[in-house]
Amino acid sequence: MSVKRLQNFINNEFVDPASGRWFEDLEPATSLTIAEVPDSDERDVILAVNAAETAFPGWSRTSQSERGSILRRIADLIDAHLEELALLESDDTGKPIALARRLDIPRSASNFRFFGSAIETFASEAHPMADGTLNYTLRQPVGVVGCISPWNLPLYLFSWKIAPALAAGCTVVAKPSELTPLTANRLAELCAEAGLPAGVLNIVHGYGSTVGAAISTNPAVKAISFTGGTTTGWAIASATATSFKKLALEMGGKNPVLIFADADYDEALSTTLQSSFRNQGEICLCGSRIYVESSLYERFKADFVARTAALRVGDPREASTDLGAVISAGHFDKVMGYIDLAHGEGGKVLTGGEAVKLTGRCADGWFIRPTIIEGLSLECRTNQEEIFGPVVTIAPFETEEEALDLANGTPYGLAVTIWTNDLKRAHRLASQLVFGTVWVNCWMLRDLRVPFGGAKASGLGREGGLEALKFFTEPKNVTIKI
Ligand code: NAD
Repeated sequence: MSVKRLQNFINNEFVDPASGRWFEDLEPATSLTIAEVPDSDERDVILAVNAAETAFPGWSRTSQSERGSILRRIADLIDAHLEELALLESDDTGKPIALARRLDIPRSASNFRFFGSAIETFASEAHPMADGTLNYTLRQPVGVVGCISPWNLPLYLFSWKIAPALAAGCTVVAKPSELTPLTANRLAELCAEAGLPAGVLNIVHGYGSTVGAAISTNPAVKAISFTGGTTTGWAIASATATSFKKLALEMGGKNPVLIFADADYDEALSTTLQSSFRNQGEICLCGSRIYVESSLYERFKADFVARTAALRVGDPREASTDLGAVISAGHFDKVMGYIDLAHGEGGKVLTGGEAVKLTGRCADGWFIRPTIIEGLSLECRTNQEEIFGPVVTIAPFETEEEALDLANGTPYGLAVTIWTNDLKRAHRLASQLVFGTVWVNCWMLRDLRVPFGGAKASGLGREGGLEALKFFTEPKNVTIKI
């Protein structure tokens, strides 16, 4: 593959970084360089913020329907370039191309289409008083906003932030992950083609410690929408504490799956296989701690292990591949390190637990066999820390109370899945589980209108539907005495 030198996208122009330096973007499946990424710094961010500030008055005054139609045009262009974008995403992340084709790229188009339509009906409240005084709420775009996203679902999460920000009338300075810049770069071209005016969306590539930090601390940036690790979320919250910016932080998870003996067995089994290992386990919503009611435990464990062992780890470009490569050498070492740790903590590897060495094109890629570990306590590090790879633990529970305590027993609270046919139990648990999302008899079933985010160390604020449009706007009360 030819190596493309990327540029920043500022004021609808592609420009070199001020530093004149680039770093390498490696393909996880081969470890070869596939692109050169601008090593941008604060100077580039200032240019981007200036462009966004200049564009803001014009963009914020466009009608909601005008903004909506531009967003829907972007969605149509993403659809029209599905195959090309899926290949870029798969090469950049190591994920199976079939998954990028089925999930990442269609969802990115949906994000633009959804917010393009949602903004057309976005309205605010009026509160008339008894004496005829009228209060009404103006919801005005907050101004220039920063959107910072991770590598696991690159275009999917990048567009999940940018689309509502643009719909609300904000102008944007965005930073994709330094590990996965390719689809963001292509998106810039598609946005220009769709007629997005200059300066409305600016994309600055580079590292978090330079570009991300410069976006977060720039005084003209009024809100930050961030998705990534909890440690980075803390860093952004600390760096912005004195500037009182609006923050939406979507962070890590250690998601439990609770499987009761009365569940629909086949569905619970096949969905748990997906929720454990889809995208190599590199989805913040993946279930990583599987708890099974003791009467079902041995049967479920045996079938789950057998189905996991049959998953194909292979070249992400092959249609038959279930798991591709993990994102980087560093992440490979981190995940393998957790498998070693689990051994040290007394865990028993039921399947997997090792690297996969492929031949041919992918001989130097970072592949890990899907791994199930048994015999670990809730308190151990393997069960408390986010691994974010194809590794899950499994354990039995006796009672509903115990299942609840196990589920709630980490610092995280992103998502939980319950498998049961007992409706009363499902409601009871849903109200007591401290998580942003509770799935009952399903996983990753997403309706873009619902609030999305995490509790505890998993998040601050909510994205999705109305929540996102509210985040990117500031309510102003106007009181008129008649
Ligand atoms: P990360 O926190 O390392 O990086 C995320 C983004 O933040 C990147 O663009 C990075 O360059 C930038 N960044 C890094 N340091 C920064 C700083 N000091 N200031 C500003 N920006 C900075 O996360 P990652 O490794 O890219 O992604 C994996 C993590 O993301 C996992 O923890 C996963 O759970 C989480 N995640 C959460 C959700 C969610 O919706 N809650 C979704 C996907 C991923």
